[in-house]
Amino acid sequence: MITRFAPSPTGPLHLGHAYSALLAQDMATAMGGEFLVRIEDIDRTRVRPQWDAQIFAYLHWLGLSWPQPVMRQSQRLARYSEKLDWLWAGHHVFACTCSRRDVIDALGAPQEGADLPTGPDGVIYPGTCRSHQAMAANEHAPKDAALRLLMTSAVAQTHFSFHETGHGPNGETGLIEFTAEDAISDIGDIVLARRDMGTSYHLSVVLDDAAQDVTHVVRGEDLFDVTKIHVILQRLMGLPTPIYHHHRLIRDSAGKRLAKRDDARAIAKYRTEGASPDDVRRIVGL
Ligand code: GLU
Ligand code: ZN
Repeated sequence: MITRFAPSPTGPLHLGHAYSALLAQDMATAMGGEFLVRIEDIDRTRVRPQWDAQIFAYLHWLGLSWPQPVMRQSQRLARYSEKLDWLWAGHHVFACTCSRRDVIDALGAPQEGADLPTGPDGVIYPGTCRSHQAMAANEHAPKDAALRLLMTSAVAQTHFSFHETGHGPNGETGLIEFTAEDAISDIGDIVLARRDMGTSYHLSVVLDDAAQDVTHVVRGEDLFDVTKIHVILQRLMGLPTPIYHHHRLIRDSAGKRLAKRDDARAIAKYRTEGASPDDVRRIVGL
């Protein structure tokens, strides 16, 4: 068994992260497996180097350990770009130059926030740029536009499934099934490479979990719905599908989900106030 904790260094390590990391390590330890840490730092507009040093320090303080060197997504851009070229050559992605406004206009919505058709990755793309595809199979994917997954071409089979040992936000557990038709209508042509990043969370996470032979993905239930996207990408690229274990989110005293920037729940604060790593475990219910 290989589990991983994959933080984005965009803020302090908070209780929600601690829970996720401790649970992933506990699961690996219980099975004599391995626990990995991966830094998901592709969003250069939000990532700050000081945060990853802090994240490591507090994970160590919590008693976690993991093999070095740690995989960093910012060092894997060439790998992502290679895969995008392959997807482009196979006509599984197309170049999209729409602004957010263009997408909203194409949907005929009067304004932002109006009742737009929405899937797990946001507004369902109306298809405006779908014809912007590779002309020849040996071309490189363009870098001056976003690349969207052509969902009708990406769904390589009619039925999909994955195993959930935790639960989704509505208690979904066990064998989770969906169809190609569901994916086309309810997810649509999601962005697989942002112009300013050269990749996306979805593409990177799928390639990295496979590259690290992760067998059990342990993460918050807020990512349950996008797992369908990950499974579609795994089938398309011939990668194994790990077992997924989505867990409850740690909420603040008012019952609100903890935001990444919520410093009030930062592990730093608990430590400064004299809490021990065991106290943190108790607070998150482990
Ligand atoms: N990097 C993501 C985050 O911080 C987690 C991705 C994942 O676990 O799949 O929310
Ligand atoms: Zn477009």
